[in-house]
Amino acid sequence: MKTAVRILFSFIIMSIVFVMPQHALAEVSVYINQEKINFEDTAPFIDKESNRTLVPFRKIFESLGSTVSYDGNTKTVMGINEDVSIKLPLNQRKAYKNNAVIELDVAAKVVDGRTMVPLRFIAESLGCNVFAQKRQYGLAIHITPLKPISEKRLDDDLRKLKEVKVNPGSNSFLTLLEVVKGSVQAFELNNPKRLVIDLEDTINQLDDKYTFKHELVSSIRTSEHDDSTTRVVFDISPETDTKIDQYENKLLVTLSKKTISDESKDSESESESDTKEDEEDKEEYSSEWKLPLESEPILIVPSERELNIESNLIIIDPGHGGEENGATSILGNYERIINLSIALQLKDRLEDEGYEVLMTREGDTTISLKDRVIMANNTNAFAFISIHANYSGRPSAKGLEVFTMYNTDHTLANYVQYSILPRTGQVDRKVKEAGFVVIKYTKMPAILVETGFLSNIDEERWLWQGENQKKIVEGIVAGIEKYKGSIKNK
Ligand SMILES: [Zn+2]
Repeated sequence: MKTAVRILFSFIIMSIVFVMPQHALAEVSVYINQEKINFEDTAPFIDKESNRTLVPFRKIFESLGSTVSYDGNTKTVMGINEDVSIKLPLNQRKAYKNNAVIELDVAAKVVDGRTMVPLRFIAESLGCNVFAQKRQYGLAIHITPLKPISEKRLDDDLRKLKEVKVNPGSNSFLTLLEVVKGSVQAFELNNPKRLVIDLEDTINQLDDKYTFKHELVSSIRTSEHDDSTTRVVFDISPETDTKIDQYENKLLVTLSKKTISDESKDSESESESDTKEDEEDKEEYSSEWKLPLESEPILIVPSERELNIESNLIIIDPGHGGEENGATSILGNYERIINLSIALQLKDRLEDEGYEVLMTREGDTTISLKDRVIMANNTNAFAFISIHANYSGRPSAKGLEVFTMYNTDHTLANYVQYSILPRTGQVDRKVKEAGFVVIKYTKMPAILVETGFLSNIDEERWLWQGENQKKIVEGIVAGIEKYKGSIKNK
């Protein structure tokens, strides 16, 4: 019995000696702005070989205001704050700071099941001063951030961009971004042409550049655009059409060759072979990429407008409608009614002139702004005309104004504004720029005509008179005719 106890006792002693890690012997304390970091059960230690202090990666990154992630595929630890991204592949004596390689004298590594990273490198990379002080029992390391540490982000509240998956086809290029549904802003830029997608409230867990040898796209870049927005940039060729669909936890970006206008593909055989290729593409995608049916299109701000010179089609968009009244006039009338009245007359007159007209609504129905844009963008119309009536808190305000999107050509707007005015004799409130949805995302030249003020008692009475509506309609038709002539002569 005694012997048994003794053996057991020695065994316990031996176990303690053997499991006690060498590195635990000298204590290392880490302070940020004089405040000691509590690493809990994982103590920092000094790596014997390099004489560098290693600390648990999550705690140190987060204490310095960075977001951390770990990529199991590449065995890489990542920390990102608003200025810097740091990547440390495990067991390699190197790191990436904003994608530039930096040699290290000690690798990030897993010790006793914990991922440990070199303290000085991390702290200095994140913009801190590091000062080590020898103490009787070990080492005190003082970290002083050179600028205030940003409030620790609540990662759980933010979306995460986790994966980029591509599927190149012969006429198209599909990209799936793995990110849960949320607010997305998309726009195109020129010279060189890019599609930019800003994912709001999203952490970028990729911070990478993907390059391709494809006719439509040369690279996809992801980065943290600001504190809470992840930006994804597609470097695309000028002949690329872009389309984005949002699913529950994915964003599908479809890049395709710009559709050739009807005139240029008259040849039967050519169009047949096109169709065949398209079908092949679809087959390939559908089998490989199963997506839920429920999706929501994301509107993209075009970098330039398609003139569609050969097109005879024009879109007329009567503002508001159905459940949406628009402005309520000083006499209690609704804008949605007068907009439709003018728009329907405009349709008839344009058809008389030989134009083909597509109405976003022909009756008193509710239709979203987004659906109006999608309807228009599915056509090759040469112009989009939205008809509205104005309202101001200042009852004296009156007159005509035509809006076009910020930083777009004013030709169409000018022709319409200055073809209406001589006919109506209204106050010239000039052509203006604005970011209304229907003129922002439409891919053809688009204007919004504010025909007059419902908040001005005289102008409202004037607007309801048939002869005056007719003058406005004739003015718009004349403006469109002049515009059409001008683009033909280009
Ligand atoms: Zn309106």
